[in-house]
Amino acid sequence: MSNKAPAAISDQYELWIDGEERSAGTDDRFTVVDPATEDTVADVGMASGDDVDRAVSVARDAFESWRSRPPKERVQVLTAIAAAIREQSEYLATVETMENGKPISSSRSQVERAARHFEYYAGIADKIQGESIPLSDGYVDYTIREPLGVTAHIVPWNVPIYLFARSVAPALAAGNAAVVKPAEQTPIGALELARVATEAGLPDGLLNVVPGFGAEAGAALTGHPHVNGITFTGSGPTGTAVAQSAVENVTETHLELGGKSPNVVFPDAEWEAALDGTITAIMTNAGQVCSAGSRLLVHEDIHDEFLDDLVDRAAALELGPGIDDYDMGPLVSADHLEKVQNYIDIGREEVGDPVIGGGRLDRDGYFVEPTIFDGVSHDTRIAQEEIFGPVLTVSTFADEDEAVELADATDYGLVAGIYTSDVGRAHRFARDVDAGQVYINEYYAGGNETPFGGYKQSGIGRENGVQAIDNYTQIKNVCANI
Ligand code: NAD
Repeated sequence: MSNKAPAAISDQYELWIDGEERSAGTDDRFTVVDPATEDTVADVGMASGDDVDRAVSVARDAFESWRSRPPKERVQVLTAIAAAIREQSEYLATVETMENGKPISSSRSQVERAARHFEYYAGIADKIQGESIPLSDGYVDYTIREPLGVTAHIVPWNVPIYLFARSVAPALAAGNAAVVKPAEQTPIGALELARVATEAGLPDGLLNVVPGFGAEAGAALTGHPHVNGITFTGSGPTGTAVAQSAVENVTETHLELGGKSPNVVFPDAEWEAALDGTITAIMTNAGQVCSAGSRLLVHEDIHDEFLDDLVDRAAALELGPGIDDYDMGPLVSADHLEKVQNYIDIGREEVGDPVIGGGRLDRDGYFVEPTIFDGVSHDTRIAQEEIFGPVLTVSTFADEDEAVELADATDYGLVAGIYTSDVGRAHRFARDVDAGQVYINEYYAGGNETPFGGYKQSGIGRENGVQAIDNYTQIKNVCANI
């Protein structure tokens, strides 16, 4: 651990406003629980509507000076933040594992992704430029890309540190000031990232964190009349409510929502890669990933053999506390455990017992076994609804057309994976499927540099890559009669 990081996670956190820890205006507090032990990690001040108002007003003031600073200063500050995250990476990874439960090696990767994100957008901050547009003689026309102003960031609990960085880094790079509402289950990583960014030289007021619950702090932020852009990452129903309230203020809104992503395996697939990819797709982070490959579509000719091998892989996964780096950690909370167990019960009613798993570990913590349901019809609830746990449904298909048809047979359109050694087939599938991302022969391919977002009910807008800058800028056209 770096000597710059605190020695241990504090048991008390407040809000982060104007470059420092500030108490909430009320005495209301909430607790963060370690999902591997069910012990309380810390208690945290709860932001009220007044606190959110204060954060937005501070951000507005900070924005006015940030927007007029030379872009190269943004490059320097974001570069310094990336370096500071790396310096404190072991500490931040520990925070992520304590709050969320994921294996520490996975937390380390996510913290590195967060650092890389600031580094990547540091490289873009001084290259955000307009264009000139040819018109008839007598006119000069050009565009200017300007920041939106104050941007609101609603972050979920499943990958809290990286998802914070994912929208905040491009927003700051484009010259905005940010207010973040982290998920109530995982606010500490956000508060620690704000501290790290401030210590690295980010001017006060540009990054504020208002922990609390969605219905209060979240709604106050997304409905605030002085918020100029919203990035919401979370579930479809909440995202829809946020978008509805944003319309009242005509606030630009981007939604990164859920998925029910298919993973399609053809007989000519490289066998081990397809097995690895299928397990990684659904068991990473105990299935609590928006882009989790939660539906396996396997060709009917290889179904039996592939399923046998898949069950062996699932059985080999060891579950235990993320801090000890087991293969799979717990689910994030007691509420979420109940939701996932409820879906497993629904699966039992719809298709019978799972071929493996289905139970909870007999120990403290919210551990659910890797669970696979076979023979799942596409019109069942377990094949249609996002379970967000280590629960895989398996169905078969006969040919390419049916593979695409089944892949598209949900309201979601986040990711689609395919395993085949036929290059033409892989690209035909990529062309035909309705998904924002297509992974060929490796799940979770791509990275900070590749645009990420949803088709259909999986969202509006794109994060990552140069495309994310569009979310945080607006275009001014200037036309002159010369
Ligand atoms: P959620 O919708 O319950 O909560 C997300 C965030 O919204 C939390 O911070 C919550 O406090 C806040 N919130 C709740 N009500 C609100 C309101 N009325 N106004 C404003 N904010 C409000 O989702 P979750 O359970 O925390 O996260 C899991 C979901 O997130 C899954 O559906 C998953 O697929 C999705 N997700 C999507 C992506 C993506 O990139 N597409 C990434 C990660 C997670």
